Parts: sequence; structure tokens; C-alpha cells
Amino acid sequence: MWSQTIRRLSTSALTRVRHPKLRRSTHYATLTDKDVSFFERLLSSGRTITNPDECLPFNIDYIKSCQGQSQLVLRPKTVDEVQAILRYCNEHQLAVCPQSGNTGLSGGSVPVFDEIILSLRLLNSIGNFDENSGVLTTDAGCVLEKLDTHVRQYGHIMPIDLGAKGSCLIGGNVATNAGGLRVVRFGSLRSAVLGLEVVLPDGSLLDCLTSIRKDNTGIDLKQPFIGSEGILGIVTRVALACPSLMSGVGLGFFACSSFEQILSTMRLARKICGETLSAIEFLDESTYNLSLKYLQRTNKPIESNKFYILIETMSSTDEQAKATLEKLATTALEKEFVTDGTLAQDLTQYKDIWAIRERVSDALVADGYVFKYDFSLPTSRMYKLVEETEERMKQFSNVGNVTGFGHLGDQNLHLNVTVKDGYSDDIKQALEPWLYEWVAKEHGSVSAEHGLGLHKSKYLELNKGKHSLELMKQMKHMFDPKCILNPYKVLPYKID
Ligand SMILES: Cc1cc2nc3c(=O)[nH]c(=O)nc-3n(C[C@H](O)[C@H](O)[C@H](O)COP(=O)(O)OP(=O)(O)OC[C@H]3O[C@@H](n4cnc5c(N)ncnc54)[C@H](O)[C@@H]3O)c2cc1C
Repeated sequence: MWSQTIRRLSTSALTRVRHPKLRRSTHYATLTDKDVSFFERLLSSGRTITNPDECLPFNIDYIKSCQGQSQLVLRPKTVDEVQAILRYCNEHQLAVCPQSGNTGLSGGSVPVFDEIILSLRLLNSIGNFDENSGVLTTDAGCVLEKLDTHVRQYGHIMPIDLGAKGSCLIGGNVATNAGGLRVVRFGSLRSAVLGLEVVLPDGSLLDCLTSIRKDNTGIDLKQPFIGSEGILGIVTRVALACPSLMSGVGLGFFACSSFEQILSTMRLARKICGETLSAIEFLDESTYNLSLKYLQRTNKPIESNKFYILIETMSSTDEQAKATLEKLATTALEKEFVTDGTLAQDLTQYKDIWAIRERVSDALVADGYVFKYDFSLPTSRMYKLVEETEERMKQFSNVGNVTGFGHLGDQNLHLNVTVKDGYSDDIKQALEPWLYEWVAKEHGSVSAEHGLGLHKSKYLELNKGKHSLELMKQMKHMFDPKCILNPYKVLPYKID
């Protein structure tokens, strides 16, 4: 039955087929009927999924770069259930893949082989919001956008915002230390996490769920779980500091004829907008055109050029947020840094402009198979890499687009290569490890915000020295001695 379901899929291929050198470790037990009966007894109806058609969406990642073969999805509603599941899996040597919104872009959120999928989506009670401290304490399975709507009632916002906000869950955001669109203002998620509750692989509960802002008592045990992509424990509850909602918001969108002009505009924005700056994003021409095509927009908001920069300001007053942007627009035009631009006049225009940036990932998926990269680089070198990649890809007639966009204010480049007729091993060989080595030579990061997952674990060594890597492996062994959590990912280690 399983193989029939697989054959019906046209857009993704099994991970074990695409990565023939990866082998399922015999260290793990194979799921038995007895195991399934245990989970069926533990979870009430509909929360133990074994039907292959129903398991399928949980097995495929967002960009269809990976497809596992899990035959079991578990959907706990309580922390006790999460504990009982892990206790059982640990005792029986069953591998587990934690999954939240499954919007991850590094192949970390779906199984590689037959790992049991632990879906956290039903662990979703919005907890307490403390109006005095601005701290939200909530279950890990809540959708980011729903939490944002919730805290807005109290005059606050969530500390992160990203294009996947309608699907990603806060536990997944913590597990990836998500960055997003407002890192320039609020930092990545780590800086807002005050407390965590974590279920460890043996089923025990680590309670670090403090909601106080200052706490210098010993080693901060929550930190290793932030950004470690589910290899150390399952995040079940989170306490987050939520910034105050600012009623004044301004948004400008400008066209530039070179990347140098983009950088000049960014520097000017930092000078003129100062503390009101909340986002600095850029797109190149191919990214912009793909996004407009995806959004089916025929009217371009501004005259076309080679690059686009989006600048958002936030302040307690609308006047201040808009005044700094207006000054930026006038000065940037006078200095000929930008060739055209527009300032959002109302909420509809604000949303329309943001959609061009936020829907880029969807537009790329619609353009073909996507090789997706997420690098930190010195800002002045960011676009050089896109140009060199474009040159390198000229030998392939099936390449659709080479695009560069990203969080300019955080030196974070998203480089993408789309392929018209699906995954190509030749193109992959031409891109990797060349790209990762290029980034390492520039002392950048091979993963700025998406994490290592399955795709980038072997390149971790380019960024971290041998000693750091060894310590990471020791930490993995300490938290998860039987290695049941999210195997084959993040750290390059041998499972035996
Ligand atoms: C359109 C779009 C835009 C995006 N924009 C951004 C962006 O701007 N910035 C950014 O950083 N990312 C971005 N991403 C990537 C992705 O949304 C983030 O990585 C997000 O934080 C993943 O959350 P999730 O709930 O989907 O987690 P999943 O994808 O389900 O899981 C991600 C990883 O965390 C592990 N995990 C999940 N839940 C838990 C848990 N409770 N405990 C322990 N481990 C767990 C999984 O095993 C996996 O390794 C974008 C993705 C899309 C599709």
C-alpha cells in the first residue's frame, strides 16, 4: 500500500533514493504492531495515524526536497502524552522526528527513513499573558500568527515575524532559533526566550519555564535547545518577552540600479531612520519578477530596475514613523541612490508591498525544484556570490532562475537556484560544496537562520572548529545517549 502511494507523487523523491550514501541505521528498531497498539491505547481516536495517505503530508517537507517513509504519526495533546511517547521510544530504541508546522527549509522536519513523526500541532493552548511584564507563556504547538493576534489585544506583538507565520508553530521557531523580518529591531528569537519546558529523550521533564527577565543562577539550561532543531529534546512550553505594539508604522519600497546603491540606501536609512528602523530587506530583479508573477500582479508598484529595497519603520507615533521615511525617500532620490520609490499610504498598500517580499518562497517553489541556500556574509560580498553562481549555472539549460534576496540589515542572503524539470544531481554537484566553501572563505555562516537539518549537517565543520564540534557531539550524547531524536541531521555523527 505504501509503495502505491509513493508512486502517485510526482514532485518529490524519497530521501533514501536522492541520498543513496545515507543508510538507515540498524541501531534502530523497526516499528511493530505491538508498538502501534501501545500508541493507540495512549492517544485517543484519530491521534495515531497509520494510513499511508494520511501520513504522506507529514513525510514531505515544504519545498519538496525530502520525503521520508514514516508509517506512524503521533499527535499528542498533552505534555504527559509527549513524555509517555518518548519514554516508550527510548526504551524500545525507536527513532523519532519532531515536527511542528513543517515549514522548515533544511530538511530537518521530516523523517529521513521510517522515524516516527511526533507532530506537536495539537499541543496548542495559548497560555497566560502577563500585562505587567509583557511575557507570554504558551504551549509550543501554537501557530505564530495566532499568538501575534492574541498578544495584540494587550498592546504587544510577537518578537518575530516571518513569511510562514500562518503555518509555523512557536516550538518550531524556538527549535530553529528563527530570525525573520524584524531581526534588525528585535534580534533573533533566542533574545526573547525567557523560559522553556522540554521533554528529554528518556521522557523526563526539564522545567526551565521561568518568565522572569533576569536570572543569573548557574548554567542557563534552556539555551542548548534553542536552535538545535530537535536533536536534544522536545520543546513543549515557551515563555517569551513580547515587545510593545507601536501604533506608528511606515513602509517604503525603492528601486536601485546596482547593489552598491542598495548598500548606500541602507546606510542612509540607518542614519536617517535611526531607532525607528524595523526591517531592511532586499530583492533582485529575478526574485521581484517571480514574486509579482506568483501574486498575479500586472501593475508594478514602482518603475523596474535591477534591485529593490524595502524599509520599514516603527514608532509610538505614526508621524515619526512616516516622517523619517519621507526624509529618507527625498534624500535617497536627491543623492540618486534610488531611481524610483513608493511609500505605503494605507494598510492595503502596506500589505501589498510586504506580500511581494513575504511570498517569495512560494513563488520560487512554483518556479521549479529549488536549491535553497541561507548564508550570512559580509554585506559588501553578498551579491558577488549570486553573480558567480549565475555564471556557474550558465552551463545548464534547465536552470530556471538564480535569485538573491534576503534580510539585508542582518547580512543574511537567501540564494536560490530553480530548476525547470525537477531535481538535478548534476546541478547539485556544481553548487555544493563550492557554495559552502565560498562562504567559509569569507568567514560567513553556512546557515544564517534556517538551520542545518539534513541538507547542511556535513558542512557544519566548515564553520565550527574540531573542538566545538566535539563538544556538540558530547552534548548530544549527554541528552540523548540512545540517539533517538531526529537522527541523521544537524551534527555529523555516526550512529551505531
Ligand atoms: C514562506 C516561508 C518563509 C520563511 N521565512 C523565514 C524567515 O524569514 N526566517 C526564518 O528563520 N525562517 C524562515 N522560514 C523557515 C521556517 O519557517 C522556520 O525555520 C520556522 O521557525 C520553522 O517552524 P515550524 O513550526 O514549521 O517547524 P518545523 O519545520 O516543523 O521544524 C523545524 C525543526 O525544528 C524541529 N522541531 C519542531 N518542533 C519542535 C519542538 N517542539 N521541539 C523540538 N524540536 C522541534 C524539527 O524536528 C525540525 O528540525 C520560512 C519558511 C517559509 C516556508
